[in-house]
Amino acid sequence: MINTVTGTGACPGCGATTRSVRDAVPWCPRCEWNLDTYDPVRREREFGWDWVDRWTYRMAFRATTRQFTELAGRPLGANGSNRARTLTALASLVLVAGVLALAVTGVWLTVAFPFPNLAILPGVVMVGLAIALRPRFGRLDPDLEVLSRDQAPELFALIDEVATAIGAPTPDVVGVDSQINAYAGAVGLRRRKVLCLGLPLWGSLTGGERVALLGHELGHFVNGDPRRGLLTQPAFTMLGSAADLFRPVRTGGGGGLVEMVGDALGRAFQWVVSRVLFVGHLVLVSVALRDSQRAEYLADELSARVAGSAGATDLLDAALSAESMALVVRRETRAGHGPDRWRSALAEARAANADRLPLLRQLSVRDEASLFAAHPPTGLRRRMLTDRQWQDPSVVLTEARMEQIDAELVREYERFRRTVSWSA
Ligand SMILES: [Zn+2]
Ligand SMILES: [Zn+2]
Repeated sequence: MINTVTGTGACPGCGATTRSVRDAVPWCPRCEWNLDTYDPVRREREFGWDWVDRWTYRMAFRATTRQFTELAGRPLGANGSNRARTLTALASLVLVAGVLALAVTGVWLTVAFPFPNLAILPGVVMVGLAIALRPRFGRLDPDLEVLSRDQAPELFALIDEVATAIGAPTPDVVGVDSQINAYAGAVGLRRRKVLCLGLPLWGSLTGGERVALLGHELGHFVNGDPRRGLLTQPAFTMLGSAADLFRPVRTGGGGGLVEMVGDALGRAFQWVVSRVLFVGHLVLVSVALRDSQRAEYLADELSARVAGSAGATDLLDAALSAESMALVVRRETRAGHGPDRWRSALAEARAANADRLPLLRQLSVRDEASLFAAHPPTGLRRRMLTDRQWQDPSVVLTEARMEQIDAELVREYERFRRTVSWSA
């Protein structure tokens, strides 16, 4: 594991020893000097040009920490930034109207003139374009194994309890999949509410962390998340797919000079359109995602209300060690063990890692700052909770009840075990 802690020089700000984990550029753990530095070796390329990546990273880091300072210690409302929301909704409306206009014009061109007529050609192209750019509302992930209430009564009862505690509606569809992840969202025009619990994550978490996870995910149904709203959601997807559509694709060579020039001009035009659409997409997404990050802080707050501050902060720490969770689950599953052994093995791994945890929390602020991040950095989310008044849990999941829930999911765990054992 690439988790070694290394001591390096002295901090020029406060004199403390600078530290590093995971081969990161060292920073000062006491005053956070150099934490904001751009780490070109470890950082994923977002644009490909070094100077752009550097510049957008700085913008993202500043915007993220500024938002944290603005929100820390204040009540987090579900309505958030009205400006971001209005802009996103407006952009969505313009986009939907544009596509609608394209479709109507296209249909009109194909039917308005007596057949055969050249107007049919652009007409058909426009209709095709409108279909390709239509707003999409998502559908159920085919990998989701949907559970029924009869199949898992204790799990559903817990979900109901958590939902009641935070004033959220209960999901219409509950299911599991094999990811170290969980999500809550709405699909289709009717916005059916879906809750998905990744089995390796769910099985690895302690009782308090499970309640916190449910609290956070169900919190997404009431936190005013713009990514999930019917009115704001098209802005997140439509411009992006438009940019994809216009990206020039190289076709086979050959042909005369005129053809080559025509081809080059066509491609240049496509390139420009694609870039313009892409930049539009960027601006919109980065404005809207600020609002989305505020919604995440609120979901954490709801999570703490139901699981207590301890459960909610433990869950975030668990997220920081997702990498070792993946390793442990894989190892234990291959040895034929179920969720109870995942948990005990993880508890050991966490205890061994305890001194690195504060550094990992800090490093996440550097690593996870991005204009495209829907979630604020894990370390800041945790800090937002610890800076607030400490809360006691309102729903407690006992060990016995947790085992009962795992027993209800025995078939799903078994299916997961087979997939892990078969995969290389
Ligand atoms: Zn320092
Ligand atoms: Zn979330």
